[in-house]
Amino acid sequence: MSVCEETLRQELVTTSRRLWKSGWVANHDGNLSARLGDNLLCTPTAVSKGDVRPEWLIVVDPDGDVIQGTRRSFSELKLHRAAYNARPDIGVVIHAHPPSATAFAVSGADLGHPFMAEPVVTLGPVIPRIPLMLPGDPDLPMAIERGLEQADVLILEGHGVLAVGGSFEQAVLRLELLEHLAKIALAARTLGGTKPLPEALVGTLAAKGRPRSMPDHTPSDAAAYSAPSASTERPDLSSLVADALQRLR
Ligand SMILES: [Zn+2]
Repeated sequence: MSVCEETLRQELVTTSRRLWKSGWVANHDGNLSARLGDNLLCTPTAVSKGDVRPEWLIVVDPDGDVIQGTRRSFSELKLHRAAYNARPDIGVVIHAHPPSATAFAVSGADLGHPFMAEPVVTLGPVIPRIPLMLPGDPDLPMAIERGLEQADVLILEGHGVLAVGGSFEQAVLRLELLEHLAKIALAARTLGGTKPLPEALVGTLAAKGRPRSMPDHTPSDAAAYSAPSASTERPDLSSLVADALQRLR
């Protein structure tokens, strides 16, 4: 096992336990994967994400067959594959059921994004909703591809959320921000609800493009990928927001 793969295994396990500790999964919910050449390193099915150990992880080939590890694959693997096939910059995929974001997924209620400035810079101006489909639905890959053209986090209707990134750190922070936004939107309902940001402000904030997925562990050719309107550097959020507000005055 290469040093890189060992690091990836540790990061996957740490992130898996973080999902469970954060209350974003219950029972055997959720799954995590990372690109390992043409294969995927994944959590196995039927385990609590709070218990996952490095030796429990499986490696799955492009046909979905387990080629390393003694445990079984999970049915939502097709969601992950669709994400990797859609965007070569993606190094990891996380699927979970964080309660507040999932409340918007299962109720059909609109999250109301964008209603705060910083998340526009970090997540982009749109958080797509993917219609409810079974993992094997032939329309699913195209729906995931279209969603990931616009954003790095997706709301899966009737189900949960999907977050992608170049690394586990990046993907889990994106998922965390979506869940935080959902909590704020729910809290604001008792005060009359969120107000949409002015379109001109959203346009200014989104003009630079959301941060690229930084491929920590993906093959070197992925570094050449440039997502539509993606910037190459992580923007300084506070100065971007301050500049945008200044221009609107
Ligand atoms: Zn699920």
